[in-house]
Order: sequence, then C-alpha cells, then structure tokens
Amino acid sequence: MIETRDTVILGSGCSGLTAAIYAARANLKPLVLEGHEPGGQLSITTLVENFPGWPEGIQGPELIDNMKKQAGRFGAEFQIAHLVSVDLHSHPFKLKTSAGEVHTRSLIIASGASARWLGLPSEQALIGHGVSSCATCDGFFFRGLEIGVVGGGDSAMEEALFLTRFASKVTVLHRRESFRASKIMLERAVAHPNIELRTNVVIEEVLGVEENEVKGVRLRDVKTGYESVLHLSGLFLGIGHVPNARMFHGQIDLDSEGYVKTRENVFTTQNGIVLPGVYACGDVQDRRYRQAITAAGTGCMAALEVEKFLEEHGR
Ligand code: NAP
Repeated sequence: MIETRDTVILGSGCSGLTAAIYAARANLKPLVLEGHEPGGQLSITTLVENFPGWPEGIQGPELIDNMKKQAGRFGAEFQIAHLVSVDLHSHPFKLKTSAGEVHTRSLIIASGASARWLGLPSEQALIGHGVSSCATCDGFFFRGLEIGVVGGGDSAMEEALFLTRFASKVTVLHRRESFRASKIMLERAVAHPNIELRTNVVIEEVLGVEENEVKGVRLRDVKTGYESVLHLSGLFLGIGHVPNARMFHGQIDLDSEGYVKTRENVFTTQNGIVLPGVYACGDVQDRRYRQAITAAGTGCMAALEVEKFLEEHGR
C-alpha cells in the first residue's frame, strides 16, 4: 500500500527545514526527504555571521541542527532518501525515492544547489585526491601545504580565509580582473598575509593525475595567453553552484541555467501556467540572492501556500 502524504519536502537545507517547521506546526506531518547532501550548503560551511538572531554568529552545522530539531519537535518526519523520479501530471503527485514510493497532495521543492566544477577531466580524476569543493570538510588534510582556491566570489574568499588555518599559503585563482565577492570578504582576503590573489588566470589542467595526487595546476593568463605551472598540493573549487532541479525537467518550467522558475516567489509553473500544489523555495529557484535568510524566507512562504492549497482542497 503506497502512503499518501499531505506534503513532502524535498531537501533538508535552510529552506526545506524552515518549510518543515511551518508545515509541521500546521499539523501537516511533513515528510522531509533529506536528499544527497543532508543539511544543504550550511552544513558544510563555518561561521554564519549574517543570520539574524546570533550577534556573535553561529556555526552553519549548528544552525541546521537546531532547525531540524525544531521541525522534529512539531512532528516533521525525516527520511534519508533522495528523489529518483517524479510524476506531477496527476494528483496526488507520485514520487519514487531511493526508499520506495510515496504519493503526496502537495510538494515543496527545496533541493538547493550543489557545487559547480570546472569540468576538466584532470580535475574530475583528482576529486578526493587533492581536489575538493568543501574547505570545511577537507581543509584539515592540507596542514602546512600550499593550496589553490578557484573563484572570485564570497565562497572563494570564505574558503581561502578558512584554509589559512591549515595551509602555509593559499593562492586564489580568478578568471577576471575584478571580484564578485562582497567588499568585507575581499578586504579580509587581501589583508591576510598567507593569501595571494591572482587575477586573469584560468586553469587549463590539474597536474598529478598519474601520481593520483594534486601536484599543481597549469595556468593560462587570459590577457597574454602565457602559460605557467603553479605547484600546489590541493585545489579547492569556490566557483558557485548549480541548482538541483534536473529531475523536474519537462514537468515544471526551468530557466536557461536550470533554476526552477517561480512566480510570486514560490509558485511553480508548467508551460507558463501556475501548477497548483507544487512550490519551490531556496537556492533551487533563487539565482539572485542565495542567502540562508532568503532561503528560510521562501521556505516559510512555500509552507504557508501548501497550507492554503490543502485547505482550499478540503484538507
Ligand atoms: P558567485 O557569487 O556566483 O561567484 C562565483 C565565482 O566563481 C565568480 O567569481 C565566477 O567568476 C567564478 N566562476 C564561475 N564559474 C567559473 C568557471 N567555470 N571557471 C572559473 N571561475 C568561475 O558564487 P558564490 O561565491 O558561491 O556566492 C553565491 C552567493 O552566496 C552570493 O550571493 C554570496 O554573497 C553568497 N555567499 C555569502 C557568503 C558570506 O557572506 N559569508 C559566503 C559564501 C557565499 P566571474 O566573477 O568571472 O563570473
């Protein structure tokens, strides 16, 4: 017998857990599928300094843990599973997950975004052997070594600053002259004695595939075309994220970069027409703000819309 839920939430990051708190408090007993990366991006970050309510900041994993406990206290159920396929053409919606099948009257897509890679074969071959997208997970292995961080946004600056706790030197490698990072983060990186910022360079190859460990990178200066080798023991990617919405392709509207298109923040559409009962929140639909607090805000909105939708449908 396949269970039919009032609401299923895909993802257990900041948006999914906020939606879970609201849906649980509305007595909807939401089922949260934790996804491939339980806790989302906050669970692999360090100090969160801009989430209102913690004047001294709070560690990302602790914030997520608190949210999960809060949702659990009101009756949210968690399952370590991810979505395998989805059918939104009939109602209740049908979800096949890695734990089985579940039907649901409403769906909250809070599947977030995952780290972007350069896509070089040498980079892919060395993931876990010196190439990483998570400084907080892997920084520890680079004590006393020289490493590189790719990117010019806040993620790259945050990674670089964090990695100075372990590495003897961190070189930030950015493909342009100017940085996308916020002023405060950039200033901290510039002021750090163990961080060097190199601009106008792209990575052509990660060296060390034969040795099965990162030995360095082959760089190309985009202005002069000049190629050089930089010896490194590790390479961290901080070049942004891609939305986890591929499985919805053809069922709800996605934009050219694969983000879920939403109306009035959380309503999804099918061929331009609002799809009742399916809402998206957090980074899977937000290419503009991508903050923990905005993810939480849209998570709240999605849960309130679910409540309204179910009420209108006699639940
Ligand atoms: P982002 O702002 O989109 O920056 C991505 C960076 O990676 C850009 O500098 C981009 O270069 C570069 N990049 C992208 N693809 C590349 C490629 N294929 N090769 C080389 N470089 C590439 O992403 P983010 O840094 O992850 O930040 C996302 C959001 O989260 C932002 O709103 C940010 O403020 C926020 N955030 C905040 C904090 C904090 O406040 N502590 C920490 C992390 C993130 P171009 O500049 O040339 O496009």
